[in-house]
Amino acid sequence: MSEKRTEISELGEFGLIDHLNSTVLIKNSGTVKGIGDDAAVIEAGDHVKVVTTDLLLEGVHFDLSYAPLTHVGFKAVAVNISDVAAMNAIPKQITVSIALSNRFSVEAVDALYEGINAACEHYGVDLVGGDTTASRGGLVISITAIGEARKEQLSYRSGAKVNDILCVTGDLGAALVGLQILEREKQVYLSNPDMKPDLEKYTVVTGRQLKPDARMDIIHEMRELGVVPTSMLDISDGLASEIFHICKASGVGATIYEDKLPIDKQTFDTAVELNLDPITCVLNGGEDYELLFTIDQKDFAKLEKHPDIHFIGHITKAEEGKYLVTKSGTAVQLKAQGWKHF
Ligand code: ADP
Ligand code: MG
Repeated sequence: MSEKRTEISELGEFGLIDHLNSTVLIKNSGTVKGIGDDAAVIEAGDHVKVVTTDLLLEGVHFDLSYAPLTHVGFKAVAVNISDVAAMNAIPKQITVSIALSNRFSVEAVDALYEGINAACEHYGVDLVGGDTTASRGGLVISITAIGEARKEQLSYRSGAKVNDILCVTGDLGAALVGLQILEREKQVYLSNPDMKPDLEKYTVVTGRQLKPDARMDIIHEMRELGVVPTSMLDISDGLASEIFHICKASGVGATIYEDKLPIDKQTFDTAVELNLDPITCVLNGGEDYELLFTIDQKDFAKLEKHPDIHFIGHITKAEEGKYLVTKSGTAVQLKAQGWKHF
């Protein structure tokens, strides 16, 4: 009899994580939250620590034919800081582990660390350790970030309540559109190396793909205003997919409005140029690293005038489902296509 073999693609990334989670038993009372949120939460005296880790592989998460190593270093830190922000915590330390093939020189590693150190400066975190090893193929970077908060300041994915307001920071879809431009110009260059890629008019979208900024600014501002989001996560896999995460974890539904979705003009124009539907880019584009959160209605007045926070909809009962109301007023069911790695 042959052994059973299940393809990972049958489960998908999230199904696989759920499957692994079902094999894990938590033993320590200090483990406040394990697998399942943007970061784990660990008791630490009068406050809690949050811990999150991300793995970036050359050829899967970044392409060194157009991504400068300095940007790769900055982004590797930023995507971890974004998960700390998503817990409403303040990042304090990171560790950095790298695997290098002999294609990389000391100068190349210096360029990578120039970006890592710039990000540490930007987010006010200390690099406190890591690991270095050889790789058979390309560059691998794994970063772990540690942050701090008081327990009552934390925002989990599971806290959204009916009638809470759904908010997003910044604008969406830019990183996906930027990636499409970089890939297009790479193909043009590969077929004709004499052609110089003309990226001048795309700097907003390519910049968002190559060097995203975690929204710690918003976390600090909400602290000053005394707002604790009832739920929060960062948008790494696309808005629709993240709304599904909040709805699943909180046991609620959601309605969002197309005319409230924030999109930058360059993202919109470039999407059209690429024959992509701009709203699809906003809903399903990955890697924006903006924040999606819910607030209690009583906090609306405190954030109402904020130029970079957009109120895109509200939380409903689970049985009401997840809907996008289009500009013409039709309610269409949201689909979580997201960013598929498998
Ligand atoms: P994010 O997009 O915010 O980084 P992920 O979707 O990568 O979150 O992960 C969701 C949750 O699953 C997190 O709590 C993460 O720590 C956990 N997780 C992901 N991969 C694994 C794994 N291989 N083993 C255990 N936990 C994992
Ligand atoms: Mg996250």
